[in-house]
Amino acid sequence: MIRKVLIANRGEVASRIIRACKELGIKTAVIYPEVDSTALYIKKADEAHLLEGDPVASFLDPEVIVHIAVSCGADAVHPGYGFISEKAEFAELCRKKGLIFVGPNPETLRLLGDKQRSKAIAKKLGVPVIPGSEGPVQSAEEAEAVAAEVGYPVLIKASYGGGGRGIRKVESPEDLASELASASSQAEKFFGSGEVFIEKFIERPHHVEVQIITDSHGNIRHLFERDCSLQRKNQKLVEIAPSLILDEPTRQEMAEAAMGIARYTGYVNAGTVEFLVDSSGKYYFMEVNPRLQVEHPVTESITGIDIVKEQLRIASGERISFEQRDVSIYGNAIEFRVNAEDPKRNFAPSSGRITAYYSPGGTGVRIDGAVYKDYIVPPHFDSLIAKLTVWARTWKDAVMRARRALEEFVIKGVKTTIPFHLALASTEAFERGEFYVGYIEEHPELLDYHYDEDPYHRVIAIAAAIAAYEGF
Ligand code: ADP
Ligand code: ADP
Ligand code: MG
Repeated sequence: MIRKVLIANRGEVASRIIRACKELGIKTAVIYPEVDSTALYIKKADEAHLLEGDPVASFLDPEVIVHIAVSCGADAVHPGYGFISEKAEFAELCRKKGLIFVGPNPETLRLLGDKQRSKAIAKKLGVPVIPGSEGPVQSAEEAEAVAAEVGYPVLIKASYGGGGRGIRKVESPEDLASELASASSQAEKFFGSGEVFIEKFIERPHHVEVQIITDSHGNIRHLFERDCSLQRKNQKLVEIAPSLILDEPTRQEMAEAAMGIARYTGYVNAGTVEFLVDSSGKYYFMEVNPRLQVEHPVTESITGIDIVKEQLRIASGERISFEQRDVSIYGNAIEFRVNAEDPKRNFAPSSGRITAYYSPGGTGVRIDGAVYKDYIVPPHFDSLIAKLTVWARTWKDAVMRARRALEEFVIKGVKTTIPFHLALASTEAFERGEFYVGYIEEHPELLDYHYDEDPYHRVIAIAAAIAAYEGF
């Protein structure tokens, strides 16, 4: 078994991984930059190592991270998500230095990092893929021919894109050539490759993704699906499990498709196969995310399986700890991404000192947090500061619990997405489970909320007013 893990990440996911390690008796080492020296995950880890230089660049440098891992005596590296978690060279360097990389092998990462190649594999295995170009588009003429064939609007996607970046919608043929040129040069800049491809734009789809887990002994399992349709700018904001729109045969078929892709690519460890489901219920493969995902807690809530513990056991060479027949869906779970952003100002990042922090609790409430009172949210990183996951036996109960927990959740000092989530969760449409990709952009009235920043202060204020009136 792994004895000590270096966590090549920060924030809530670093804490999440530490929790799993503690439950397995594994020691943890973390890395941090000077600007984030008071972070919560540092306090939870067994040891912490300072990253010199640029705060973000160090998290992106395999050499720096692997050097720290080796010199602190770690035998494994957990990459978390984001940063270089999907970088084949990172996994390769770990292997070269005798470190276990908690994730798929470099060959699999290389293959799946290319959206085109993964699509080609899915197609070969008979899994439906979104209509579009076969391979990268080389010229404007080729792009125009493909777009004319599949019909507008289309998306231009960067082959190596991720995190909702590198996707552009083109409504009509006039714009295609210029959008293609700028998409390609932007992709070159951000992802190190200007390769792009064309895909038909699916109207109001659902984003449905299947969680899979495989071990190095050839065992493969799925943990059902999540619906991550509630997005803004192609980035997920709220995720649920299970999907409310799949019938049982489709659920099984998508799980089989996901496992088939994992089997074919020699996938080992936990991963996610993403699909879009159109309004007629047809599903299309989209991409594979070969790592732990932000929204994994909803799956853990409905199955009772600890995905990070499974990841660590599998990386140690152990078998998956459960049989497929042992897993079933119990209840409904919803995750809300609490970002330090101001929804009313176009979700602009908000950094600074947290002046009050009260987290919700009670039955069916899970917090994966990264902040506390007096912590200063640094401006350099992703704005995710906490995740609230609620679980209940029925969707309706989960919605009611979500409203209650979001009302309890107080974070002051920085603007957060909590009031936006509360407004969203309070709608009848949400209660009926009626949403799709594009829903948030189509409903700007969700931003017209009036939010009482601190319900506890309201009670104090009322008490003070009564006291004054009564002449205390
Ligand atoms: P998930 O589906 O788990 O939310 P995302 O694709 O949104 O996964 O990525 C997880 C995190 O990593 C997000 O915080 C996202 O901003 C970040 N991320 C993912 N890919 C990239 C990338 N290529 N460049 C920058 N950030 C990324
Ligand atoms: P990323 O690597 O950034 O996660 P994806 O290919 O997974 O990129 O797409 C991100 C999101 O963009 C999807 O979850 C979906 O909401 C939207 N999207 C992607 N492809 C399409 C499509 N063909 N039609 C409509 N929406 C799409
Ligand atoms: Mg994706």
